[in-house]
Amino acid sequence: VVATAAYAAYDIYEKRHPHDQLPFDPKKRTIVILGSGWGAVSLLKKINTDDYNVVVVSPRNYFLFTPLLPSCTVGTIELRSIMEPIRFITRHKSRNVKFYESACTDVDPESKTVVISDVSDIKGSVQDTTIPYDYLVVAVGADNQTFGMAGVREYACFLKEIWDAQKIRTRLMDCVESAAFAHQAPEEVERLLRMVVVGGGPTGVEYAAELHDFLKDDLQLWYPELADKLKITLVEALPNVLPMFSSQLISYTERTFKQNNIEVLTKTMVKEVGDKAIKVQNADKEIVSIPYGLLVWATGNCPRPLAKKLMARLKETQTSPRGLLVDDYMRVAGAPDVYAIGDVTFSKYAPTAQVATQQGKYLADIFESLARIDEGKNVKISPFAYTHQGSLAYIGSDKAIADLPFLNGNVSVGGVATFVFWRSAYISNMFSFRNRFLVVGDWVKSKIFGRDVSR
Ligand code: FAD
Ligand code: NAD
Repeated sequence: VVATAAYAAYDIYEKRHPHDQLPFDPKKRTIVILGSGWGAVSLLKKINTDDYNVVVVSPRNYFLFTPLLPSCTVGTIELRSIMEPIRFITRHKSRNVKFYESACTDVDPESKTVVISDVSDIKGSVQDTTIPYDYLVVAVGADNQTFGMAGVREYACFLKEIWDAQKIRTRLMDCVESAAFAHQAPEEVERLLRMVVVGGGPTGVEYAAELHDFLKDDLQLWYPELADKLKITLVEALPNVLPMFSSQLISYTERTFKQNNIEVLTKTMVKEVGDKAIKVQNADKEIVSIPYGLLVWATGNCPRPLAKKLMARLKETQTSPRGLLVDDYMRVAGAPDVYAIGDVTFSKYAPTAQVATQQGKYLADIFESLARIDEGKNVKISPFAYTHQGSLAYIGSDKAIADLPFLNGNVSVGGVATFVFWRSAYISNMFSFRNRFLVVGDWVKSKIFGRDVSR
């Protein structure tokens, strides 16, 4: 409580605007950071701008708190409550940080430059330009894995960005309102109200859980004639959901889903995606068609086009198609002065916010050490060491699961108390007091008034 209050006071009163900050200094080295997600922002928050000029390039001019994105798809939390403008984050720096809302489209490690492209709908006369760096940090995250399957990008909804949550929300209510339309045929009502989630990793499980809560708490009240017909199906290729959790928590999740009438089809692999149905190969190796109204696709990550381009440029050393290979100091193999952190890398750790955050903070320490070495000081640089703080996931009906490292072992807990822990852990991990305030307000609001069922 004391730490949060102190942080709130700092956040509110320690406001700086560009004219209060040190200007760009041509005598200092320039660090270009690509991205405004977990890795980039953790680095940005810790980096000492007395030592460097910092430039951030990202198509998103905000940070997105992804762990609460599934809650936005059903209106438990408002989208803007989990977004934080990058300029709110950089105002705390001593030196003004330049931000360009653009996508980096190429990196040239030889000339130490990057090409950036304006991504806004309204463009000025300059749309592509080249900027130089002394150090480059690639923190562009990952793309949605589709395995190149036709129809996925066209008909399914992903769950990675703000616009994905908005799209899911609109489609969900469209399905419900179309099912409620006069004289709709019963089999069409059944199809429209079949919500299919592909991928039993944490994204798919948390989305199915939020959808169940929306159905139980709100849709049943507002659409009593339809609520019993709404069906949630989770499709997973492996023998169980959540393979990263302990077997005890996997069973607990599967039991909770059963009680909540969420159909879990394991050992079932999607083979084809159409506009109204998917074809899957089930556990008996038969091809079966599953009609759907809403299809949410959460089958993991694959490298973004920029990462692939850089990997192709450095093909002698970049030998994995799954992400950028980095050494123990987060340096990209084959590209001097280029670092990579988070989901863009292929490393021994899972692609999580937890890993990206620790790598971002580590890189801030690396740059601090490099600045001291530049001053002639003798500084020892240690390799990156990851500390796993546990895994958490929401599974619906005010229950969560947690695998937490404890002493030399692991503790697996699930239930309502874990749900309270889940909420407090997420709130304490938010980057600003403003976000915490808004999210807690949304939780209270949805408890008192129910979730908003407008489209
Ligand atoms: P991101 O956070 O994805 O950021 C990438 C940034 O790069 C973005 O700002 C993007 O706009 C920008 N970018 C993209 N292309 C370019 C380009 N060409 N040029 C410049 N910038 C570019 N992990 C956990 O540990 N706990 C959780 O509870 C959890 N929940 C999750 C829930 C959901 C729904 C999802 C989707 C993920 C969740 N994760 C969670 C995983 C976590 O979000 C990722 O591991 C984390 O975001 C990775 O951080 P990153 O900085 O590498 O990438
Ligand atoms: P994931 O890679 O964790 O899971 C994807 C699942 O989809 C896998 O279980 C895979 O077997 C399944 N799959 C793949 N192809 C399929 C097909 N054709 N048909 C049926 N199933 C198929 O992906 P995710 O859930 O999107 O998570 C991505 C990353 O983000 C992970 O590292 C995860 O740990 C992290 N994350 C963490 C949390 C959390 O900690 N609460 C929440 C969300 C995401």
